[in-house]
Amino acid sequence: MSETSPKFEAMKQIRDELLELTNSPLYKERVDNGMFPVIGAGSHDAQIMFIGEAPGKNEAKTGRPFCGASGRVLDELLKHLGANRDDVYITNIVKDRPTNNRDPKPEEIELYAPFLDRQIEIIQPKVIATLGRFSMEYVMKRYGLEDSLGTISTIHGNIFETTLSYGKVQIVPLYHPAVGIYNRNLLPDLQKDIELLKQFL
Ligand code: URA
Repeated sequence: MSETSPKFEAMKQIRDELLELTNSPLYKERVDNGMFPVIGAGSHDAQIMFIGEAPGKNEAKTGRPFCGASGRVLDELLKHLGANRDDVYITNIVKDRPTNNRDPKPEEIELYAPFLDRQIEIIQPKVIATLGRFSMEYVMKRYGLEDSLGTISTIHGNIFETTLSYGKVQIVPLYHPAVGIYNRNLLPDLQKDIELLKQFL
């Protein structure tokens, strides 16, 4: 993709706004620690968009999503899918690191989610695969699937169809890759779920 394309420019605008997001409760800690907001990475023309929760320490240090332990699990899953990071787009709802990797607060999700909504409109993925319960809940509520929401253990690996401004989109809730670290027994579930995405590559 050209670095002067409208998609690139729109994404750069998001990055510039996030860099200056002084009204975020996470801004000061980011700046004080020389860290970065994590905007996202991958193809701006991806068919599949993965949405995680929030950056951890490695991600905030580098500005790249999923580059720590969870990222290694995500890479294994992508390999299983037959894709690599350049074939998809990977981002999070919350773009700055919550202190000590705590769960994001509702007000943080509210503040950062409009940036995610804009990224979805820029990339226009056919499939949104949510990673973990925070992005599952946000995306399903935001895009008209509130009635289909359940716990992640009951609805992971299901495909829910919705319509966005640019057309039909399949929403696929997946477990967060971190479960593959603390509960290796769930890895087969993660692998089985990710296989569902093969048809969209
Ligand atoms: N966990 C997430 O949800 N996102 C990342 O980028 C890294 C870990």
